Amino acid sequence: MVENLRFRDATLAKRVVEKIHNLASKEGTVKICHVCGTHEWTITHFGLRSLLPTNVEVIAGPGCPVCIVPASEIDEAIQLASKGMVITCFGDVLRVPGSKMSLLDAKAEGADVRVIYGVSDAVKMAEKEPNKEFVFFAIGFETTAPSTAVEVIKQPPENLSFLVSHRLIPPAMKLLVDMTDLSLNGFIAPGHVSTIIGVKPYEIFPKRYHMPTVVAGFEPLDVLFGVYMILKQLSEGKPCLENEYMRAVRWEGNVKAQELMRKVFEVVNGNWRGLGTIPSSTFKLRRKYENHDAHLKYGVKVEDGVDIQPGCKCHLVIIGKIKPTECPLFMKTCTPQKPVGACMVSIEGTCRIWAKA
Ligand code: SF4
Repeated sequence: MVENLRFRDATLAKRVVEKIHNLASKEGTVKICHVCGTHEWTITHFGLRSLLPTNVEVIAGPGCPVCIVPASEIDEAIQLASKGMVITCFGDVLRVPGSKMSLLDAKAEGADVRVIYGVSDAVKMAEKEPNKEFVFFAIGFETTAPSTAVEVIKQPPENLSFLVSHRLIPPAMKLLVDMTDLSLNGFIAPGHVSTIIGVKPYEIFPKRYHMPTVVAGFEPLDVLFGVYMILKQLSEGKPCLENEYMRAVRWEGNVKAQELMRKVFEVVNGNWRGLGTIPSSTFKLRRKYENHDAHLKYGVKVEDGVDIQPGCKCHLVIIGKIKPTECPLFMKTCTPQKPVGACMVSIEGTCRIWAKA
């Protein structure tokens, strides 16, 4: 709600909302998609949807890096754990459902699964216990991939390998545009990811798809400005690429981080939970580093996982096709305490954000 903002922000927000209403009054239905869990948190927490005109809808796309990890990759981590490897991962990965169980279930059954706060923790553990084999389950978008790349390039200990599950945001946005039944009219591009990749990778959306695209920050005002800028582009009939988040995002992004990622990873097709294979959307370790690739080192590869449990609608929530409240399991059998689907696990998951609102 506007009332939740500081006085100066609230006054400005009211003026932006007024302008949004003016512009929207000349448009038909406008559907704007964001692809970031933090944007969804801001929008939901501050009740921004309630401030928008009824013909302007903001939907949440696949912006939660934990939610889109396919069950097959959770299964691979569990297989490795069952072979005696120590699995290291971030805390929010623990409860993501695999085909039959989560890493937390595997831990309860005796697997050595350890929560870490950074890749360097996994390096330290592997150095300290050279008689054990360690695997870092590397999850996240372009925001976290550079920190994995840093450790890979530093020649980690022999007994540490990487199960790389990093995913790239622009190819997922392209998938959404290609889903004609989603009928999108504009993108709010993610602030965090853009600090790394910059603004340029989104050029394709206005150029090829005539889709207004605005990189926006995470304050309520940033999001409102993002919506306003998209509506303005629509009203002028001039779709383009704009950067609302100039205080943090440079047009060229973080060139050093990009260079690091290029050195360590190659881009391959990747499977996303509930979405299937998205071309050129995943990182894989380059051949130079294959002695640290957990897939190759331990011969583990699960092709088909069960992404969606019976009754779960995560595959529709992930692309913003339905709201969490439209899933029959929402806050009945699926809760933050006992999640059924991946969207209820992470603090960036749409269902969890709505559950905690
Ligand atoms: Fe999946 Fe639970 Fe969300 Fe339903 S409420 S879509 S089961 S995470």
